[in-house]
Amino acid sequence: MRAVEDTSPDRALAARARMLFHSPRMATRARVLVIGAGLAGLRTADLLVRRGETDVLVLEARDRVGGRTLSRALGKATFDLGGQWIGPSQRRAQALVRELGIATFPTYDTGAKVLDLAGKLSRYEGTIPRLDPLSLLELQVVLSRIDARRKAVRTDAPHESPRAAEDDSRTAASWARTRVRSPHVRALLEASARVVFGAELGEISLLHFLFYAQAAGGLMPLVEIQGGAQETRFVNGAQEISTRIASSLGDRVRLSTPVRRISVRGGDVMVDSDRGTYLAERVVVAVPPVLARTIEFDPRLPAQRAHLLERAFQGSTIKCLALYDRPFWRERGLSGEAVSDGGPLAVAFDNTSHDGAQPALLGFSVGALAREHAARSRADRRRVVLERFARWYGEEALRPVEYVEHDWSEEPWSRGCPISLFGTGALSESGAALRTPCGPIHWAGAETAREHHGFLEGALESAERVTDELQSAFCR
Ligand SMILES: Cc1cc2nc3c(=O)[nH]c(=O)nc-3n(C[C@H](O)[C@H](O)[C@H](O)COP(=O)(O)OP(=O)(O)OC[C@H]3O[C@@H](n4cnc5c(N)ncnc54)[C@H](O)[C@@H]3O)c2cc1C
Repeated sequence: MRAVEDTSPDRALAARARMLFHSPRMATRARVLVIGAGLAGLRTADLLVRRGETDVLVLEARDRVGGRTLSRALGKATFDLGGQWIGPSQRRAQALVRELGIATFPTYDTGAKVLDLAGKLSRYEGTIPRLDPLSLLELQVVLSRIDARRKAVRTDAPHESPRAAEDDSRTAASWARTRVRSPHVRALLEASARVVFGAELGEISLLHFLFYAQAAGGLMPLVEIQGGAQETRFVNGAQEISTRIASSLGDRVRLSTPVRRISVRGGDVMVDSDRGTYLAERVVVAVPPVLARTIEFDPRLPAQRAHLLERAFQGSTIKCLALYDRPFWRERGLSGEAVSDGGPLAVAFDNTSHDGAQPALLGFSVGALAREHAARSRADRRRVVLERFARWYGEEALRPVEYVEHDWSEEPWSRGCPISLFGTGALSESGAALRTPCGPIHWAGAETAREHHGFLEGALESAERVTDELQSAFCR
């Protein structure tokens, strides 16, 4: 009697995997495949190789490495159009930079800062802007309340934090509406959140907001230069960390290879990309959640992981960089730092090169301001940004030697920046799935980090964790 042929998709896929496994010319085989050559993916491959697991390949969609870091030669220096700072508590990044011999320098922080609030300009020194006494008092109270609340959040398991469900059922804006009376304090909170998240307080769950602050060691370190996340810059740009790691990995990094589908059958993971099929024992997905969502998984991801990916959205950030022949703001006793509650820019910094050869100002158009800014014509965008610089620093700002903008929402392999965020209800319900492997599929990337979640440091932390996961999986 003839056996009835099993034509189920499962069987067909398993047969394809077997066939590819035995036909090396049709599929490339590696023990570990890493998807994404951002800092997290590259560092994962780097650590695996250093620990003796040399059969690893990195598949990258773009024609370059570095993901959300992107450094460009402009004027007389190199400038970062993506991530650009590290802080003193970001110990992995500090150590790696030292090990690779990458040159850094302190962010310029001398002089008065500009506050542009409710249409009024003022100057201040230190971290806390000069406000009316009642607002100032309330600002201190609000900051210490946030500090107490964020300390209760578990960064290893945000969903198990004491008030996880309650905090995740409301946005950070709804909390601020009931807790903050002064419109000035609310505006400052909103401006800071826009810059940190690239999003409005009304878009982010309160739990996610507190989780992020806790992972960074507090709200103030997120916004400060000295002692904070903006303390140190890279002489040749932050992308150098990735290009240096990638060159040590050599042809283990495959560029222009977008991954479209990941299928798991038996002991094999089959990865379909635009440049062919790959087989592996383990796969590390080191891409932001909004992009992981665009990969087809077969079988489908577990419900919690799928929910988390569905509830993720990317912030909106446009970096606006103006190069000048003189740092005229310094001559006026200004540090170049400005904070504003209006568009197009929420904050600005002195972004002059390390040697002073190329004076520069950097503005961030973020959150709703960025979306409004993106709708303007190119000429209007340049004009409104330079007018804002002129309002803060003087008329010379209208005459840069070069003006450059980079809108991360236009990058198909980032879809926004600086990070993927979670709306209400995602972390409390599905936070357990943030790092949990799905069989042979592991998750890395800045958005999976416990410390400095969303930062370069977080990307490095995730690489360490996922490398440990793989090592223990291989030892079993
Ligand atoms: C404007 C801006 C400012 C920032 N400022 C700072 C800062 O000052 N300090 C700081 O610490 N952090 C900053 N960040 C955040 C920081 O850059 C990121 O946290 C970090 O770079 C994330 O690294 P990653 O490897 O996790 O992800 P990514 O860098 O996003 O890398 C993911 C990689 O995966 C690739 N990819 C995506 N989908 C696929 C697919 N299907 N197949 C194959 N490849 C795929 C992407 O092309 C990308 O290269 C900033 C980010 C931006 C954009």
